[in-house]
Amino acid sequence: MTKMTWQAPRIESMTLPSLNKFGRRRLAADAQSAIDGVSVETLVERYGSPLYVTSESRLRANIRRITQAFSSRYPKVIHGWSYKTNYNGAVCSILHQEGSWAEVVSRFEYEKARALGVPGDRIVFNGPNKPRPILERAIAEGALIHVDHADELALIEAIAEERRERVPVTLRLNFKTGYSEPWSRFGFNLESGAARAAIKRVKGSRHLRLNGLHSHIGTFILDPRAYAAAASTLCMLAREIEADGTRLSYIDIGGGLPSNNALQGIYLPPEQSTPDLDEYAEAICRAFLDGTAYRLENGEERPALVFESGRAVIDDAQSLITSVVGRKETADGRPAAILDAGLNALFTALWYDHPVRLASPARGELRDTVLYGPLCMNIDVLRHSVQLPPLAVGDRLVIAPVGAYNTTQSMQFIEYRPAVVLIHGDREVSLIRAAEDLEVVCAQERLPAHLAPAARQTAAPVPALRVAGG
Ligand SMILES: *Cc1c(COP(=O)(O)O)cnc(C)c1O
Repeated sequence: MTKMTWQAPRIESMTLPSLNKFGRRRLAADAQSAIDGVSVETLVERYGSPLYVTSESRLRANIRRITQAFSSRYPKVIHGWSYKTNYNGAVCSILHQEGSWAEVVSRFEYEKARALGVPGDRIVFNGPNKPRPILERAIAEGALIHVDHADELALIEAIAEERRERVPVTLRLNFKTGYSEPWSRFGFNLESGAARAAIKRVKGSRHLRLNGLHSHIGTFILDPRAYAAAASTLCMLAREIEADGTRLSYIDIGGGLPSNNALQGIYLPPEQSTPDLDEYAEAICRAFLDGTAYRLENGEERPALVFESGRAVIDDAQSLITSVVGRKETADGRPAAILDAGLNALFTALWYDHPVRLASPARGELRDTVLYGPLCMNIDVLRHSVQLPPLAVGDRLVIAPVGAYNTTQSMQFIEYRPAVVLIHGDREVSLIRAAEDLEVVCAQERLPAHLAPAARQTAAPVPALRVAGG
């Protein structure tokens, strides 16, 4: 009798390669060979890979649809474009042309908005760090200052006293909505009493004037009821404040509207899990109409409704083209591809499952594939699992939506940052940010004289490595 050789037990996961997570068989991968009528291949030939591609027509359609959703329901609406979401100069300029004000959260963003020609009185200045010099400039230029904490309030009061004037301020508040994760680190907390104390302090100051209330409850808020609750709370406070004759010029409901991106861990596709923008506008405007005693006073409509959407405006107006540079198989036998763009260019891959399309027609059956970025870092994975046909070196992939929080958060880590182009008019393409090179990345470095290349040659020779025991 022959003895069977022992084999170590193995557990293998069952894979159903061509079924998507709803159990449906997808016959072919979605292919996308062009963006706004311009072929992906042409774009890469002219501007290189990876490449961010921005659609001007989509961006304009988005901002018009979103502002229309609000202004058809409430008579005085102002949109503040959130610079940190995507502060490319061309992107901001398109939105300012469409009538959006600037919403900035730092000295850099304030200076950028001014450099792009936005007048100070159309800048909403948020953020927890406003150093004195930029605060002085913003006050002198009539910016809408949104106060984050008591020390900042004291600083503004001191500046106002020096200027011998009453500076209008808006208080950022935070509170529970019951339908969203509470964000308590920004602004004055309502439940603790800090918000009412700040209101009292502003009202009691000879150098300050209460101009508005602000709250930004979070980001990618999936329940419109959170906004209805936030708007009602702000309106209730506004009525309380106005009881003594004080008049607020606006109430700012912040940003946080979701885009059609696929959040990790949410089972339903975004078309099913994300409410329509109209539902948000309806919830907010209804609460404003019920809660503010909106009226015309001395020919002026008040209070204005300010909102600061970033993500919902830009996300689907930008795509990232990336190329396959190599292929691998994972240890568990799945196909993997190495791409020329990773977390350095697509930071939001940490919390989204970005849709990925092949630019060329698919060949072969879909398989559960891993997409690695180019960084020499284990965490650099763009998709841990995505259904794709077999990939070849040189294949182009189109990843979208990527317009929110990617170009602004992209890193000069290991790789140069890619170019950004804008498609406009009749398939015209303009470069709106050149790809980086060695000169750009090292521009701010300084080499002390004793380390300059010439000095190095005359320095003591580096001792040769000695072989151990030799
Ligand atoms: C980031 C930010 C926004 C924009 O948020 P989105 O989620 O992109 O809409 C608006 N207001 C403030 C104060 C912010 O910090």
